[in-house]
Formats: sequence, C-alpha cells, structure tokens
Amino acid sequence: MNPTIIKEINSCYQIKKSKAFSDLEKRKKKIYSDIPRLKEIDEEITTYAMQSVRSILVCEKQEQYSYVKDLEEKINILNDEKLNILKEKNIDPEELEPKFECDKCKDTGFVNGERCSCYEQLLLNYTYDNSNLKNFSNDNFNNFNIELYSTNKIENTNISPRENIEYIKKLSIEFINNFDSHEQKNLFFSGGTGLGKTYLSSCIANELLKKGKTVLYQTAPSLLDMVIDYKLNKAQSNCKLYSQIFDVDLLIIDDLGVEYLNNLNSVELFNIINNRLISTKPIKTIISTNLDLNRFRDRYDDRLVSRIIGNYTICKFLGEDIRIKQR
Ligand SMILES: [Zn+2]
Repeated sequence: MNPTIIKEINSCYQIKKSKAFSDLEKRKKKIYSDIPRLKEIDEEITTYAMQSVRSILVCEKQEQYSYVKDLEEKINILNDEKLNILKEKNIDPEELEPKFECDKCKDTGFVNGERCSCYEQLLLNYTYDNSNLKNFSNDNFNNFNIELYSTNKIENTNISPRENIEYIKKLSIEFINNFDSHEQKNLFFSGGTGLGKTYLSSCIANELLKKGKTVLYQTAPSLLDMVIDYKLNKAQSNCKLYSQIFDVDLLIIDDLGVEYLNNLNSVELFNIINNRLISTKPIKTIISTNLDLNRFRDRYDDRLVSRIIGNYTICKFLGEDIRIKQR
C-alpha cells in the first residue's frame, strides 16, 4: 500500500475525530450555560469515576468491592437526574455525546483490529479517481424530481416517461434494500443522455455508502485503461488496487459504449463483469449506457450480452433530456 495514501487517510481520521470532539465541546458549553446543574452533575460523575479507578489500585479486595459499589450507585443516581433534566428540557441525550461520521468505528477507521468499511472507502477514493462520487454526494432520492418527466404517453406505448421513471426508482430502492441477497439482480441503465441515469446511480451509491458498503465509480474508458495499465505494468502495480475492482461492494460502470473497443478491452470487460457475477460475495454492479439494447447487442460479443441479459435488470430510460427543463 502506498505509504503517502495511508498517511493521508490517517490524518483524515485525526481531523474527523477532533472535529467530533470540538463540536461536542461547543454543544456542551451551550447546554451547560443554559442548565448549570448539568455541568455540576457531569463533574461529579467524573470525580466518582476517578475515585473508583483509584480505589481499585490501592484498596484491599473486600473493602474495594463495597466502596466501588457505593460509587456506582451514586453515579447511577446522578445519571438518572441528568436524564430527567434532559427530558424535561427536551434535549436529546445524544447531544452530550460525540457525533462521529461513522458509528461503526467511531472515526478510528478500525473495528476489532480490522479495517472499517469507511476506511476501505477512503482508500478507494484516494487510490482511484473516485472524485465523481464526491461530486455526486448530494444526490439523493428526496431531491430526485420526477416531475421533470413528462406525463404524456410515449408514441406506440402505453407508458409515459413519468410512469417509467417511477418504476425504475422503485426498482432502484428494491436494489438497495435487497443488496445482500444473491437473488437480487444487478442494474443495467440504458437510454439517451440527460435522462437521469447517472443521477439515479449516485442516489443508489449514496444510500449504500450510508449502509457501510464500498462503492467504486468509474466510466468504462477509465476503468479499462486502469485494468490494461495494471496488466502491462504488473511488476510495479498495486495488486490490491486491481483486486478492488472485483471486490468492491458496488461497482458503477458509467458510459459503457464510449470506450475504444479492441480484443484486449473486450476480454477485460467480460472478465470484470463475469468475475463479479460468479463472486460468492453479495457484490453488485450498475452499468449505465447511452446505447439502446439493439446497439448494445451489435457492439459487444454474445457472451457478454448474454451475461448481462441474464443477470441484470434492464431499465430503459425514456423521454426527453430533463436537464434542459431544469434550467
Ligand atoms: Zn468506520
């Protein structure tokens, strides 16, 4: 692993942690000045807790037992009083606790000596150009305005773009909820530009990041460039980086169809898609393309096409470019 990256990630956790504690101090200061009794209670609790620790070091066993028990009782009474005050004043007790970005590892990056998923995600963001994910970090289902899609039926169909996107949104939410199930298929988003494919992909990515999943977002050309570069420069390359393409919980391959296609690229593309399908882990892939299914079939070899048709839920995005309406 690149030591510079490790160093950057570690300092990232230092910053997160100190922010959680300095924010806590600010909240405490405000609450204590409004309700001075709370400050007294917290100070008394700290004093008793310290006495308890000290007694364990100096007292005889029997003596220590009753003394510690007495201190614990005092602390319990104080805690009850504190909770009652908070309840009365309508303050969430969590306000007096540090708020970490990651509850699993409390912004340390590790859980039981193992790297937390948030650490793995930071590693992905640093090592790949995963910056697109950051740009999309505000995309969420609440901001997804389906009213931008027309309610007029599409020619020769009995469905409107609005009904269609509502259905795709429903499939996307099911995808998130059933992510760990092996029965859940992957997603294939097909349709013209500006129909919300990338937006929806990033809504899904953000929901899964919140659930502690790792996400790698790459356009097809950059993903293939990376893989080929790895293959050509194997000796100097980082094998962990390469394996992440096959291990990451969610891989989003955007813009499939714009990459330059030769034999090598075709083989690698099939490799990525197929290896992720046969993985024993419940990992998933979202592929997004401007090609319609016919053009997709024409461009790629039958093996790849059949893997996709069989293992992906095909979502056709219909209608007109909604970005024009947004302006
Ligand atoms: Zn974490």
